[in-house]
Amino acid sequence: MLLLKNGSVFDGSGAEPIRADLLIDGNKIARIGPVNGTPADCRTLDCSNLAVAPGFIDLHSHADLQVLQAERTEKFHQGVTTEVVGNCGFSPFPQGGHAHDLCEFGGGILGQRDHWGWANATEYLDSAARLGKNVRVAPLVGHGSLRVAVAGLDQRPLTSAEQERMEGLLADSLDAGCVGFSTGLMYAPGSSAGKQELEPLCRIAAAKDKLYATHMRSYANGLVDATREQLDLARATGCRLQISHLQAAGRANWDLQRRALDEIERARAEGIDVEFDIYPYQCGSTVLTQWLPQAALDGGMDTLMTRLRDKAAREKIAEETERSRAQEWSDLTISGVATSGNRPLIGKTIADVAALRGCAGVDAMLDLLIEEHAEVNVICFNQSEDNLRQLLSHPLCSVISDGFYVTGKPHPRLHGTFPELLGRVTRERRWLTLAAAVHKITGKPAARLGFRDRGLLREGYMADVTVFDPERVASPATYETPELPPEGIAFILKNGEISFQGDRVS
Ligand SMILES: [Zn+2]
Repeated sequence: MLLLKNGSVFDGSGAEPIRADLLIDGNKIARIGPVNGTPADCRTLDCSNLAVAPGFIDLHSHADLQVLQAERTEKFHQGVTTEVVGNCGFSPFPQGGHAHDLCEFGGGILGQRDHWGWANATEYLDSAARLGKNVRVAPLVGHGSLRVAVAGLDQRPLTSAEQERMEGLLADSLDAGCVGFSTGLMYAPGSSAGKQELEPLCRIAAAKDKLYATHMRSYANGLVDATREQLDLARATGCRLQISHLQAAGRANWDLQRRALDEIERARAEGIDVEFDIYPYQCGSTVLTQWLPQAALDGGMDTLMTRLRDKAAREKIAEETERSRAQEWSDLTISGVATSGNRPLIGKTIADVAALRGCAGVDAMLDLLIEEHAEVNVICFNQSEDNLRQLLSHPLCSVISDGFYVTGKPHPRLHGTFPELLGRVTRERRWLTLAAAVHKITGKPAARLGFRDRGLLREGYMADVTVFDPERVASPATYETPELPPEGIAFILKNGEISFQGDRVS
C-alpha cells in the first residue's frame, strides 16, 4: 500500500482542491480523505505543499511510434500517464496492401521515414502493451491511413468496394480497442474525402460510442465553413465530435475564431456532442508539404518531385501556394530536414532562406522540398495571444500537446505542454484556475474518451496519479532550446506504482 499524505487534492473534475490523504491499494485508489494511522506494509509519501492530481491524459499526440520506445520519456516526465495517438488521420496501421505508401504518408508526422507499420489495430495494441513502458497508449485509427490501406496515395473518389473495405477496417479497429477515429482533411489523400465518404465512418464511430477527432479542412480563411462541415457530420450521424487544435491561423483570419466558437456553442445548445482542444502555444508545427495544394501530392512524393521539376506544373503549384497561404514566409521556421547539407537551415525562416538564396519565398520553399524529397518540418506562427487565451479558458477546451518528433528541433510543446499550462499559463498569467487547468488535462479528456476508471481521483478508480509542486511547476523549453525537461513534477504513479520521481520528494 502507498499513502500520499496531506496533499492538496485536485480530483480532476474542476472542483477546487481539498486537503486530504490518498490511500493506494494495489493498482487502485482505496480511500480519499483523512487516513489515520499507517496501515502495515504501507509506504508514506509526504505531499505537504504539493498538488495531487489524476495522471495527465494527452488527448492529441503524434508519438505513435515513440510511445513504444522506452527511452522516449518526454511526455511521461511531464506527468502524462495516458497518451492518445493516431491523430489528424495518421495511424501506423492498418497497412492493407500498401505498406510502403503508409510510411510515405505518415513519415513526416510520425517522425520516422523508414519502414514501420502494423497490419491492424490488434497487432499495434499488442506492441504497445509489450513495449509501451512509459505511458498507457490509447490509439485512434486514422482515416488517412485507412484510405491508404484501401487505395494507396491516389486522390480519386473511392469505389464502393473500397469504401466498404474501409468501413470494415474502421469497425475492426474500433472493436480491437481503438478509442476512436480521426481525420486529417488538410493532408492528402485524406483531404480528398467528402461527405459521402466520411458520413458512414462517423456513423460507425457513433454506433460503437467512440470518439471522432478531426483536423478540419481549414484553420485559415475557410475556418468557419470547415467547422460547419464537421458540425453537420455530427448532426447527421450523432457521433461524438472533437475538433482538434482549434485556432484561426494567420493574422488576416484571427477574427474568424469567434465565429467558429459561435458555431460550436450554438451546436452544443442544440444538443450536439462537440468539444475542441488546443496546445498552449501561439505557434503550430507540421510538415512543409501542408502549404502545397494537396492535389500536387496525388500519387505520392515521387510524383510530386516530377511535378516540381516540370516548369509549367511548378508555376501552377507556386501560384496556388501563394494564393492559399495564411502565413507570411517569415512566420514559417524550419524545424527539421532530411539531408545533412541543409541542417544549418534549421532555425531559419523560409523568408531567411529566400534572402540567403536571392529568390522568392515560394521558390525557396519549393526548392527546399525538392532538395529534401519533401521531408521538411516547420514551426509556424499561427495565432494571437488573445485568441489563445480565449481558447484555453473556454469551458469546452481540453489542452493537448500535439507533440511530434522531427530530425532537427521539435516544437517545445513536445517537452513542455503540461508544465507550461500549469506554470506560465495558470500560475503566472492567471488565465484560468489551477483546478480548471487540471480538469482540461484529466477529467475532461477522460470524459471525451468515455473512460470510466481513469481521469479522476475517485475511490475505486485506477491509481494513475501525478504529484507536482504548484509553486514551481514550469517548462523551460523554448523554440530555441526545446528539449529541456520540465521542473516541479514530484512523482508519478501509474497503476499504483511509482513510475517516476522528480526533483522534489520529501
Ligand atoms: Zn492536426
